[in-house]
Amino acid sequence: MTTATELTNPYLIVQKYLKDVCDKLDLPPSVYEILKETKRVMEVSVPVKMDDGSVKSFIGYRAQHTDILGPAKGGIRFHPGVYLDEVKGLSMWMTFKTAVVNLPYGGGKGGVVVNPRELSRNELEQLSRNYIRAISTMIGPELDIPAPDVNTNAQIMGWMIDEYSKLTGYNVPGVITGKPVGLGGSLGRSEATGRGVAITVREAAKKIGLDLKGAKVVIQGFGNVGSTSGVLLAELGATIIAASDSRSAIYNAGGLDIKAAVRHKKETGALLDFLGATRLTNEEMLALPCDILVPAALENQLNREVAGKVQARLIAEGANGPTTPDGNQVLNERGIFVIPDILCNAGGVTVSYFEWVQNLANYYWTEEEVNQRLELKMVAAFDEVYQMSRQYGVDMRSAAYMVSVKRIADAMAFRGWI
Ligand code: NAD
Repeated sequence: MTTATELTNPYLIVQKYLKDVCDKLDLPPSVYEILKETKRVMEVSVPVKMDDGSVKSFIGYRAQHTDILGPAKGGIRFHPGVYLDEVKGLSMWMTFKTAVVNLPYGGGKGGVVVNPRELSRNELEQLSRNYIRAISTMIGPELDIPAPDVNTNAQIMGWMIDEYSKLTGYNVPGVITGKPVGLGGSLGRSEATGRGVAITVREAAKKIGLDLKGAKVVIQGFGNVGSTSGVLLAELGATIIAASDSRSAIYNAGGLDIKAAVRHKKETGALLDFLGATRLTNEEMLALPCDILVPAALENQLNREVAGKVQARLIAEGANGPTTPDGNQVLNERGIFVIPDILCNAGGVTVSYFEWVQNLANYYWTEEEVNQRLELKMVAAFDEVYQMSRQYGVDMRSAAYMVSVKRIADAMAFRGWI
């Protein structure tokens, strides 16, 4: 892909945020110099024997941004739009995300340029296994621990663990997180990102004096993160008035029956035709009067123009990078409270960390224990970021980067790098 600009290219975007916070924190120039690049990147060709007997090669990447605080950690994405700078940028995002919730990890990310919907189940399994073989020298429980991301799931992680374990000759559950519970996955992992979103929304609402009872919520992207956030926010008393997926947006001013919408999406594969709701375009939905907007779909949804029309008081970034830098500026100028992605959606990687800890200890926790520990981590991270934002008089995104970059810079100093 060659059309990405500094407003949409994740690598350039995160470099810009990094530079900005290094300046705000008055850090030695060497911190930016070291962190602005990706430590290690691998590009691989992944040949797959297709069902018709032909062979097709797919391009895959794995990037490790840092291992200053621990092994690299980050998901694997299967998408036709994957490109190297995206993978590198997302690996940097993972560094700052894991550091903001104080996990002993660095940042990693992987991707394969493929539309998985065009593959049969057998072809998808071969692709998953061959990709993990291709990057096997780069990953490991002490080195780099992948997980699911867009269009990859627990089953795909199961195939990948199996393939990796064949190479080592013994079972290595700690090499990948987000795997099925029956293969050493953690209870609570699949809901963890949405749960983290709901926890940070609850904390932010207290700070801005927003009563969640009856608060109106709009959710863009009704997949794992968006739908779980919706269900949990409804449990906290909020009213979900609109939701969208890649095909349609649905709206009911009096509130959607969120659990019924989740069932409808599961049964039909789409929100389209959900009873008791009006259809809107994505643009109309993002401009609805509401209290809380949860972008939980893809990158670059809230650009300058859309950000100017948003009517929410609070934005909870369930997705990675849903706001462009110019959109971010508009939201700040308009005084909208944004819970930035690296904090808001860090619940997923936090429970991935719990999964890894359980794998290394071979001792498994109850779902209640997982959720309690997630609650503690998310609240502590939210408070730390909020304090930083007050101390320096900056927005929550700058503050989140400042908390993580400061933590990493301290570790660099202890290592004698700066
Ligand atoms: P998913 O595939 O389960 O859901 C994505 C949803 O977004 C789908 O319903 C899809 O139809 C919808 N969508 C796609 N394009 C859209 C558009 N233009 N407008 C409206 N909806 C659209 O994915 P997910 O796991 O829920 O991830 C969503 C976002 O959250 C991604 O940015 C991902 O990187 C991020 N994230 C996910 C996790 C996790 O644990 N799953 C953790 C951290 C961050």
